Amino acid sequence: MQNYISQLNEAQQAPVLRKDGPMIVIAGAGSGKTRVLTIRIAYLMSLGVDAFNILSLTFTNKAAREMKKRISDIVGSSEAKNLWMGTFHSIFAKILRIEADKLGYPSNFTIYDAQDSVRLLGSIIKEMQLDKDVYKPKQVFSRISSYKNSLITVKAYFDNPELQEADAMSKKPRMGEIYQQYVERCFKSGAMDFDDLLLKTNELLTRFPDVLLKYQDRFRYILVDEYQDTNHSQYLIVRALSDRFQNICVVGDDAQSIYAFRGANINNILNFQKDYDNVEMFRLEQNYRSTRNIVEAANSIIDKNKTKLDKIVWTANDDGPKIKVHRSLTDGEEGRFVASTIFEEKMNNQLNNNQFAILYRTNAQSRAMEDALRKRDIPYRIYGGLSFYQRKEIKDVLCYLRLVINPKDEEALVRVINYPARGIGDTTVEKLTIAANHYKRSIYEVMQNIDRIDLKLNTGTKNKLKDFVTMIQSFQVIDQNQDAFYLADHVTKKTGLIQELKKDGTPEGIARLENIEELLNGIKDFIDGQKEIDGARGALSEFMEDVALATDLDNDTGDDDRVALMTIHLAKGLEFPHVFIVGMEEDLFPSAMSMSTRSELEEERRLFYVALTRAEHQAYLTYAQSRYRWGKLTDCEPSRFIEEITEHFLDYMTPMEGSRYKPMIDIDIFGDVDKSKLRLAKPTNGTPPKNYSNDEPLFSSNIRKLKPMDGSSPTKGSISESKLNIGNIVLHERFGKGQVVNLEGVGADKKAEIKFEVGGLKKLLLRFAKLDVI
Ligand code: ATP
Ligand code: MG
Repeated sequence: MQNYISQLNEAQQAPVLRKDGPMIVIAGAGSGKTRVLTIRIAYLMSLGVDAFNILSLTFTNKAAREMKKRISDIVGSSEAKNLWMGTFHSIFAKILRIEADKLGYPSNFTIYDAQDSVRLLGSIIKEMQLDKDVYKPKQVFSRISSYKNSLITVKAYFDNPELQEADAMSKKPRMGEIYQQYVERCFKSGAMDFDDLLLKTNELLTRFPDVLLKYQDRFRYILVDEYQDTNHSQYLIVRALSDRFQNICVVGDDAQSIYAFRGANINNILNFQKDYDNVEMFRLEQNYRSTRNIVEAANSIIDKNKTKLDKIVWTANDDGPKIKVHRSLTDGEEGRFVASTIFEEKMNNQLNNNQFAILYRTNAQSRAMEDALRKRDIPYRIYGGLSFYQRKEIKDVLCYLRLVINPKDEEALVRVINYPARGIGDTTVEKLTIAANHYKRSIYEVMQNIDRIDLKLNTGTKNKLKDFVTMIQSFQVIDQNQDAFYLADHVTKKTGLIQELKKDGTPEGIARLENIEELLNGIKDFIDGQKEIDGARGALSEFMEDVALATDLDNDTGDDDRVALMTIHLAKGLEFPHVFIVGMEEDLFPSAMSMSTRSELEEERRLFYVALTRAEHQAYLTYAQSRYRWGKLTDCEPSRFIEEITEHFLDYMTPMEGSRYKPMIDIDIFGDVDKSKLRLAKPTNGTPPKNYSNDEPLFSSNIRKLKPMDGSSPTKGSISESKLNIGNIVLHERFGKGQVVNLEGVGADKKAEIKFEVGGLKKLLLRFAKLDVI
C-alpha cells in the first residue's frame, strides 16, 4: 500500500481504496472528508487513472489549489497539472467557453458579477417605468437567481401559473417580463451571470447528447466536496456527468448545510443512495481538528436540531480549554476585548496573527473589529464584503478591459462610455440603449453603425461615439500582439483614467491610483505565472477569467501573517487554532430574519455548528449588551445558542477587568410597576457579588425591565431568583406560559425545570431565562 494512505485511519482508507462505483462519505466536521478526497485522487492516479479523467469540485478555488498542491507532492506536479479541479462555476465556465457557439454565445462571453446584474435590472425596471421600491433590483435579482438555480427558464416561468401567481401576490406581477428582458439583454451583451454558468451547462448537457457523452467520457471519476451545499442545478450537472461510469464520490455533512437561502438542497445528500445503484456509504467519526471540549460542545448544539442524520463525532485529542464566553456593554467594547485578547495571547504564547480568526454572522459586524485591531496595530484581513475587484477605480479599468474582449458587454460599456468624461451624456446613452433594444443588437453595434441609424444626434456627438469605438478597436489590436500587462498599462493611460485620478489630488484619489498600480502588479504576476507554466503569451482573456471567478478567499496567498475576518458562511471547510465568534446575540445570531420557522432556525444552528467547529484549540463566544443596528443603539440579549451548549464546556469571563466571576443574577419580579420607570439595576441586596467590582449593570436585560427608575425598592410581589418556587406560574418571552416543576443548582448554575403550555418541559438556566412570575 502507498505510504500516504497510512496517513489515514481505517475508516478513512475505505472510501479511498474502493476504486469504482458511487459512494458517499457522510461525516461531521473535522473528520477528514477533504483529506479523504485528496488522497483518493492521488491513489486513483497511482492506479493508472489519467489526471485528465478526474474532475474534482470544491467549494472555493483556494481549496482546489491546496488539494492540487498536496496531490502534486504525492504524485508529482507534471501529473497533477492536468487535473480538473475547482468550483462548479470555474470548471463549467471553462467548458462553456469551449462549447459556447452551440448555445449561440461567443466564446469570449463576459461573466457579469452581481453588481452588473443588479445595475442592469435597475435600468430595466426604470425603462419599464416600474416602482423601484416595489421592484427592488437586489430582490428581483435574487428572485431571478432562485429561478435559474431551480432551472426555471423564462419559458418555464410563463408556463407555470403558480409562479406567476406567487409573484403577483407579492405585488410583483411584472416579474416575468423583467426576467425575460434581463435574459435577453444579457444574451445580447454576450454575457452570462453566475447562475447562468450552471443553468447553461445544464442546457448544454441536455440539448446536446454528443456533448454530454464527450464530457461523460472525459470525467470518468468525479469527486465533490461539501456536497450538502449543492443546489438543484449543480446536482443535475453532477448527476448527468456521472451517469455513464457512475464513479462518483461525494463527501459532506448534513449538519453543515448552510446555503439553503441560496437554493442549496440538503436532500441531495439525503437522496444520494436513491440516485445511484450500489451506493456504498461511509462514515467517519473521529475528529482530528479540535479539542474534546470543542467537539463535544458542538455535538451538544447540533443535537438540538430535529432534522439531521444520526452521526457520531468524537476525538482522541486533549480536552483543551473550555469555550470562553464574554459579554461587553457595547459592540465597540466587544471589538476591544477581541483585539486585546489576541494581543495578549500572542505575547504570552508566541502566536502568529494568522492563528486567529474572527467570525461573524453579517459583514457589517467587521467594522467594530477592524477599528479595535487597528488601534492595537494587529494586521488583519477581511474576506468577503467588497472585494478588491469591485472597488470603483478597479472596476473602471476592468470594464475597459472587458470591452476589449467583448465589446458587446453592455454593463461595461455603459459604465465607462463617459468616464472619464468625454462629452457623451445620459441622453445619448439612453438613445443608444433604446435603439439597441429596438434592433436587438448591442449598444456597441449601434455605435459602429451610428451613421446609418437616425438617432437625431449632432455631428459632434456622433464623432465622440466614433472616437470611442476607434479607441476600443485600437486596444483590440494591441491585445492581439501584446501581453495583458502591456495592454492594461496602455489602457489606463490612453483612456485618461490615470490623469483623472492624478488631477483629483485628494488622499482618496491617491489611494485609488495606488490600487490601480496594485491591479497592474497583479496582472504582471499573473502573466508571469502563466508564461512559466506553458510559455503562453499571458493573454488578457485568461486574466479576466480568473478575475471574474475570483472570490476573496482565492486571493489569499496564505503566507501573510494576518488575523482573518470573515462571515461564518465563508469559513466553511477552514480551520484556525483560535476562533472568536462575535455578536452572539438574539436577532443577530440567530438572525432576526431566520426565526419564523423551525427549518430556518435549524439552519442558523447549523451555521453556529460550522462556526464552532472551525476552532482547533480555543473558541470564544462574545456578545454585547447593546450595539448600533440600522443607525440606532439597540439593546441585545445573549444568543440562545450559548444557552444551548452544555454548560460544562463553557467558561464565563468578566467583560472588562479580566477578573473572573460567574455572572450572578437576581430575578426581581414586581407586580404592577410602571414599566416606563424601569432602569438598569444593581444587585438587589445592595452588596455586589464577589469579584464584581464596578458599576456595570448585571447580566440579564430582564432586570432592566423590572427595577423602578426612581430607585425605590419594590413594594409588593417582588420575588428574587432565590424566591422562585416550585409551583410558580411564569411567563417566558419565547415559550409563553408555564409552571415551575423543579429547581436545581445554586447561584449562577441555578436551573428551573418548567412545563410550558406550548412546547412542554424545558430546563432553563435562570441566569439566561427571561421569566416573569404571574
Ligand atoms: P469540514 O467538515 O470542516 O470540511 P473535514 O471533514 O473536511 O472538515 P479535514 O479538513 O479533511 O476535515 O480534516 C480536518 C483536520 O484534521 C485537517 O487538519 C486534517 O489534516 C486533519 N486530519 C484528517 N485526518 C487525519 C488523520 N487521519 N490523521 C491526522 N490528521 C488528520
Ligand atoms: Mg472539508
